[in-house]
Amino acid sequence: VVAVDDRGGPEERQRAADLGIDLVIAPRAEQWAGLCAAVDMVVVSPGVPVHHPVFSVHPAPRLLGEVELASQRSFGPMVAITGTNGKTTVTTLVAAMLEASGVWAVAAGNIGVPLLDAVTGADTPGKIRGQRPPGENPVVVAEVSSFQLALTEGFHPRVATWINFSEDHLDWHPDLEHYRVSKARIWANVGAGDVVIANAEDPVVMVATRAPRARGAQVDTFGVQEGEWRVEGGVLCGPHGLQIVDVAELPRALPHDLANALAASATAIACGATVAGCRAALLEFSGLPHRVELVSEAGGVRWYDDSKATTPGAVLAALEGFDSAVLIAGGRNKGLDLGTLRRAAPRLRAVVAIGEAAGELEDAFSGVRPVQEADSMEAAVDIAGGLAQPGDAVLLSPGCASFDWYTSYAERGADFARCVHAHLAREVGS
Ligand code: ADP
Repeated sequence: VVAVDDRGGPEERQRAADLGIDLVIAPRAEQWAGLCAAVDMVVVSPGVPVHHPVFSVHPAPRLLGEVELASQRSFGPMVAITGTNGKTTVTTLVAAMLEASGVWAVAAGNIGVPLLDAVTGADTPGKIRGQRPPGENPVVVAEVSSFQLALTEGFHPRVATWINFSEDHLDWHPDLEHYRVSKARIWANVGAGDVVIANAEDPVVMVATRAPRARGAQVDTFGVQEGEWRVEGGVLCGPHGLQIVDVAELPRALPHDLANALAASATAIACGATVAGCRAALLEFSGLPHRVELVSEAGGVRWYDDSKATTPGAVLAALEGFDSAVLIAGGRNKGLDLGTLRRAAPRLRAVVAIGEAAGELEDAFSGVRPVQEADSMEAAVDIAGGLAQPGDAVLLSPGCASFDWYTSYAERGADFARCVHAHLAREVGS
């Protein structure tokens, strides 16, 4: 094994030495051809940018990602979940539904445990192998991103769910078609005996079901209005008269919550969960942090942290749940068209624009809704507080990455919550 690190410092050198592997630090572009010629395959970490020299070596080496390695080493059933938005939520729900049904499951991939560790138990004796009853393997519920799918060959989940498709990651994928084709690889190897779960209300996803259907895969669909899994008479329903739960009983029932609940139920049932297990998991699930998370309520105004919404599609979905909102949006644009946010104007009282993309938001809403620019989160919260009327929501739902001001979406969300609490404390004090 030869490791390559563009930044390698003393810690990386030590780790490579401990493992007894060669480490090449920051090779020049022209060194890559030699490096690649000397190995059987190149495993690229998720997040290596698409313009990195490793992607333009001639002749092209065999390039794989972690998901491919994990699937080659997997000795249990694997379920995969992808989509532009809702991956982490649905993955978490599916694992919880299986657990509540008495099926041993582990959520892995983009969340929690790395996929390779989950499928092999390597290096995680406490977390995985230690829990493994002899002769039994957990169902691995894998959240897979487009970057990871782009570098798969034989990846073959037995149940594979594609939640939705809209613009994302155009700072990594050369164009939207490359992003779409990468996502569609989730179904590249599924066929007879496998189950594909697709969003009946998403035309891009539905077109992509044709190939697995032609190869004999079972295709199950979900969608709040359409689909075999849908909401009917206020109840989450499945095919053959299955009734999962009353919408009124759910801790939270924004439109995208219902879509996620349906996608998760369809997926979990295909993996052996029970209706009672799905129901129990849904009744307990009130959402993950930084995903339309209620931070505070004061003076008839509810403040929500939706920092994880880093695409316009996610922002539009979140806003569907509100009739009148002040939106705080902006950050580092991932190459996406923020103008689509204008569609939400009827639900918006005003917009507070932050970060590098503030100008793009001003362009998007100019002449349509009042837009004010803020040069810090604290200022954004103060401005939003001044604009909001009783009955409104204030939503931090940026539609952009956080890296202009923060190291992560979680840090951005935590800072927002801190500013909201400080703002409300000042209001009470004044
Ligand atoms: P991902 O892992 O794909 O980024 P998350 O489950 O972390 O998705 O949710 C991120 C954000 O995406 C949420 O805060 C919400 O704004 C939006 N979102 C969640 N589910 C959906 C969905 N089914 N459709 C559209 N947007 C969604």
